[in-house]
Amino acid sequence: MKTRRKTAKRTAKRVTDAKPGAGVASKYAIRTRLIHGTSKTPKWDYSHHVIPPITSSATFRLSSAQRGAKGFFEFACDSIDTTREVPIYIYDRLDEPTRGMLEEALATAEGGDNAVCFATGMAAITAAISMLVRAGDEVLAHHTLYGCTYSFLTNWLPRQNVKARFCDVDDPNSLARGITAKTRVVYFETPVNPTMELIDMQRVRAVVDKANRGRKPVERIQVLVDNTFATPYCQRPIEHGVDIVVHSLTKGIGGFGTDMGGAVILPKALHNTLMLYRKDFGGVLSPKAAWNILVYGLPSLAARMANMQRTARHVAEFLERHPKVSRVAYPGLASFPQRALAEKQMADYRGKFAPGSMIYFTLKERPGRYDAGERFIDYIADKAYCVTLAVSLGQVKTLIENPYSMTHSAYQAAAGSKLEHEEKQRLEPGGIRLSVGLEDRQDIIADLEKGLAEA
Ligand SMILES: *Cc1c(COP(=O)(O)O)cnc(C)c1O
Repeated sequence: MKTRRKTAKRTAKRVTDAKPGAGVASKYAIRTRLIHGTSKTPKWDYSHHVIPPITSSATFRLSSAQRGAKGFFEFACDSIDTTREVPIYIYDRLDEPTRGMLEEALATAEGGDNAVCFATGMAAITAAISMLVRAGDEVLAHHTLYGCTYSFLTNWLPRQNVKARFCDVDDPNSLARGITAKTRVVYFETPVNPTMELIDMQRVRAVVDKANRGRKPVERIQVLVDNTFATPYCQRPIEHGVDIVVHSLTKGIGGFGTDMGGAVILPKALHNTLMLYRKDFGGVLSPKAAWNILVYGLPSLAARMANMQRTARHVAEFLERHPKVSRVAYPGLASFPQRALAEKQMADYRGKFAPGSMIYFTLKERPGRYDAGERFIDYIADKAYCVTLAVSLGQVKTLIENPYSMTHSAYQAAAGSKLEHEEKQRLEPGGIRLSVGLEDRQDIIADLEKGLAEA
């Protein structure tokens, strides 16, 4: 694993050095580079701009038929390095400069070779998985996942004759038992949405490396992680041996709740395949959304996350002390069961412990009843000023929701049918997910306190 990581770093450095001015950029901290980006890029001449322009053009003027032909030939072509040469832009769905600049910045943020952006997080997740599987293959996933990801794996992949299996990916024995000769992808989130359980990425890497021994390159298992909850500010999975990272840009990276988007950060060897996939399936990120994420989201990511994370610790400690709360899961709490693992794999760009801004908690309920959680959520929806009942997360506004009945309701639909795995038991009906925003922490706590008094 060490050599693999070293090689990845070397490749990334070579690529960055090739850009004009980027040799200088690579000496600056990531936090600084997310603000200044590749502001000297061959993708677009904006030497007069402080802010990159939105390039809003569905199609691009070609100077000759021959140049058009060359552009089509070179698109996603293995012999062309688009980080060294300006691609011949043809049509927005293939490639265009604003999204291209965002992709460079996202690869920097995650420490990966390349990034490919999609219209939503789900478009990115389904593309990353679909690119890697053929009829007859299997995907092995953690038992608890974002609801739509679970629905994709169980409702849609089987129609392509791809089977989804589930296991406890954090248990090396369960993971090793779940892997078969047909497994091509191991997929999970860490922290898991919404339970905040963590998965030890280096341990997953070791189990998968063992299973990959003796396999032909096309049959090797790829490790995919959804890093939406942590954001690259708090965790860079590629540093821990993961092959491919997926994101919903709608959440912490976008940061303001104004645009949807998704991204896949992946090794150079898979970049062209995913570009071809995106060209043909068509779910590209619009340049206007890309511009917002490039200009507002990424440059403010570190400042937002550092602030939200500080507030989250105070909120989690308040919840933990409250007599009506039965359990709080926040990796920054001393009581967090996987605290040592959290400290190992959740770190900011300076290496400081970075447990993020997401909290999951449950209220004390009467046996078999979940009305305390509901009363609490209803109070918040009706009366709270700075805590909002809404799905989504990672925004400047504090958001609260009930995953069992909302974001993860796909699990309930599945539980109605005959289900061989036990995922549904992992989500408590009364569980509450809190995404801490940028408000004053006393105000967030005051709204929660009033709600708890009603629960
Ligand atoms: C929201 C979310 C997604 C889906 O992203 P969209 O942008 O809504 O398509 C995937 N994974 C996680 C962990 C999420 O929170």
